[in-house]
Amino acid sequence: MKIIVQKFGGTSVSSKENRDKVAEKIIEKYNEGYKVVVVVSAIGRKGDPYSTDTLLEMVNQKLMPPKEIDLLLSCGEIISSVILANHLLERGYKVSVLTGYQAGIKTDNNFGNAEIINVDNTNILKNLDNDKITIVAGFQGANKNGEITTLGRGGSDISAIAIGKSINCNHVEIFTDVDGVMTADPNIVANAKVLSNMSYSEVYQLAEDGAKVIHPRAIEMAQQANIPLIIKNTYNNSKGTSIKETDVNFINNRKQLSNEKIITSITYKKNRVQVIISLDDNKYNMDNLMEEITLNNISLDLITFLVDKKIFTIDINDKEKLINILEKENLKYDIVENCCKISAIGYKMRGVPGVMARIVKALSKENIEILQTSDSHNTIWCLIKEEDTNKALKALHDEFKLYE
Ligand code: ADP
Ligand code: MG
Repeated sequence: MKIIVQKFGGTSVSSKENRDKVAEKIIEKYNEGYKVVVVVSAIGRKGDPYSTDTLLEMVNQKLMPPKEIDLLLSCGEIISSVILANHLLERGYKVSVLTGYQAGIKTDNNFGNAEIINVDNTNILKNLDNDKITIVAGFQGANKNGEITTLGRGGSDISAIAIGKSINCNHVEIFTDVDGVMTADPNIVANAKVLSNMSYSEVYQLAEDGAKVIHPRAIEMAQQANIPLIIKNTYNNSKGTSIKETDVNFINNRKQLSNEKIITSITYKKNRVQVIISLDDNKYNMDNLMEEITLNNISLDLITFLVDKKIFTIDINDKEKLINILEKENLKYDIVENCCKISAIGYKMRGVPGVMARIVKALSKENIEILQTSDSHNTIWCLIKEEDTNKALKALHDEFKLYE
């Protein structure tokens, strides 16, 4: 039995014309003999009726408990699922719509940002056996008490992979409003190019470091379950980006394709705050600070610990909490706000000398100050001022000829 999961994002279901395109994509696979499970997001973006943001604005978020907010938000995906089903029914196809709960998506109790624990595939498989195209409302599940939970922004991507894994699908297609994963955010870098093949780890890094195109948790799950993934455009027939493990052939092909492509993509994360703690003597026990930071659930990034200086970055939302801790611990510190973390990603950079030098040179040429750097086997990070973001992305995109 050939099974495919197709996920459609918010813009894909936002208008009748767009939903017609979605219906075509579904029917195409159904006619190829696939059992099709469709996962949909809520309609449209902020301002559109029934979009997640529109629903949120209709209640007092300070008063409304998270459980009720999730109940409200879950309606967005249910509405788009039923409306999409209508398009398929009108074309004569058998359809069944399931909420996340009905689809067997079991989560923890973390309302607003729940984690999927497992998927009971009984209902989905029953529908597929009856030859029904099965539409599942994305972004939602239920805890063990049957209370509806949501999975956080971009959560429908996670729904799609979790379902795909539970029914042993052949692959998952993620449909969106661009042609696939691109070398950079196309809204900033005009000549960004679609990447036809990527490894899970590259896309994971790209998503984790800010590229919105897919949820990092979805990629992580796909990698663990070894589910091949294609990210493509709802509105045309371009081939999209195929994401799978970097097997030897794949690596060899890539090497033949372009010896120059050490960096494959770049991305950025704004709202970062750099923290520099100065220690005059060595008597302060860093364990105390680290413990407080952990207790307060503050996540640190770009960590550089020197004898007399401890440097790291945090998200702007954690700034007040951190300052309270630093004051309590009587530490001397500097805070640099409005920073942006730029990531240059490519699994082939491992062991290649001079990549950092090229990055530094390209940024210096544009008079962009580098506040901090760090690197791993497949990524180089630079912290810069937020105002330099666009200039930096363009400079690096050009330096590594990602437009070619
Ligand atoms: P959906 O609603 O389909 O889930 P998203 O808005 O979550 O769509 O993700 C798609 C958007 O991600 C694109 O429209 C694009 O603006 C943005 N994006 C940012 N970085 C990238 C990138 N490197 N490649 C592709 N898209 C990107
Ligand atoms: Mg998305």
